[in-house]
Amino acid sequence: MSDATVIIAGAGQAGAQAAVSLRQEGFEGHIVLLGDEPGLPYQRPPLSKAYLMGKVEEPGLLLRAEKIYADQRVQLMPGERIESIDRAARTVRLASGQVLGYAHLVLALGAINRPLPAAGAGLDGVGYLRTLAEARDLRARLPNTKRAVVIGAGFIGLEFAAAARAQGIDVTVVEAAPRPMSRVLSEPMSRFLTARHEAQGVRILLNRTVSGLRGEQGRLSGVELDDGSVLEADLAVVGIGVLPNTALAQAAGLAVDNGIVVDENLLTADPAISAIGDCAAFPCAYSSQGLMRLESVQNAVDQARCVAARLAGKPAAFNAVPWFWSEQYDVRLQMAGITSRHDQAIVRGTPEENAWSVFCFRDGAFLGAESVNKTADHMAVRKLLAAGVALTPEQAADPSYDLKLAVAAIGK
Ligand code: ADP
Repeated sequence: MSDATVIIAGAGQAGAQAAVSLRQEGFEGHIVLLGDEPGLPYQRPPLSKAYLMGKVEEPGLLLRAEKIYADQRVQLMPGERIESIDRAARTVRLASGQVLGYAHLVLALGAINRPLPAAGAGLDGVGYLRTLAEARDLRARLPNTKRAVVIGAGFIGLEFAAAARAQGIDVTVVEAAPRPMSRVLSEPMSRFLTARHEAQGVRILLNRTVSGLRGEQGRLSGVELDDGSVLEADLAVVGIGVLPNTALAQAAGLAVDNGIVVDENLLTADPAISAIGDCAAFPCAYSSQGLMRLESVQNAVDQARCVAARLAGKPAAFNAVPWFWSEQYDVRLQMAGITSRHDQAIVRGTPEENAWSVFCFRDGAFLGAESVNKTADHMAVRKLLAAGVALTPEQAADPSYDLKLAVAAIGK
């Protein structure tokens, strides 16, 4: 592959990392990094946090300065959309009509917003929060917003709620499930977050969905719920999750199962096509749930590095420990491992002091932990998981059990 072309489809966190890592790993061929968004690759996590709060401006969001791509001989093609993949010819066709050949194609296509299944989602004043363009629009609206309704109490919804509330906006969150962030968080952590939001004056309505959005002259005026009640609103933010961008792969005959299916090397059934980041369904070493799809910076970056190393002649199975984070008010939430199927949640530390963790187990086996303002716990758990240390529920429940010593004992 020394003088061959690698096309990286998608210029988000995963794609941009793959391009730079290819060079770092010693790949000498041509690298094309193309994506359908305009501009340079940027970070998404601050969009729903510091950027919305006006604490960082657009240049501060860039993943790397433009010069780095030139220095690394990465051909950047922003604003370009791939329309189809011809696997037999090893080419991609762009919307512009251009056809590009590849020796290897890395699909880093990310995800699209799950559309709200309710009438009126096209009204002015209804927004999503995934791309910079969407965040820019929401940020510009905040100073003139009195009442916001957030649909979905996941990462995006709750982070938006915190940012809007901090700007004095009246915020109501509508969540279909019985508790916030139930897809990823334990019950104690959900309860804690609910209380933090309520203490700030955010209303959280659970077990409720939106049946329709009401408007006057094309502008949002209210959000109608499934119990018939109507919440007055001049802004509604839809944060009900994302769907993996799999259409291109599916049309090209690749297997898709809530994500583009890859093996432990992140390779599809086509030896010339890999998939990484939010769009990839992979066998996760830290989960027994079969193929997993993870939406996180860590996963995007580590999968990009893994594929780059393989393409530079250093193949290794992907086995990075999954971790995630969120920030809401003074709560820095860090999660390590795949804990969603836990049957036991053990609290360590003191929630009252806003510094504590929940250790999660299934059938007595350690899955990972959620930590609030306890980075030491989070870092220790990442190391224990990576080393395969089988922490027991008894150890987690014992305040005198020293996680630092357990980490220090790894490999001894
Ligand atoms: P994101 O990363 O976009 O925040 P998550 O999956 O973390 O996505 O959270 C989405 C949240 O939206 C989940 O808590 C889910 O239960 C909730 N949800 C999904 N559909 C609806 C709906 N129609 N109305 C309200 N909440 C919804």
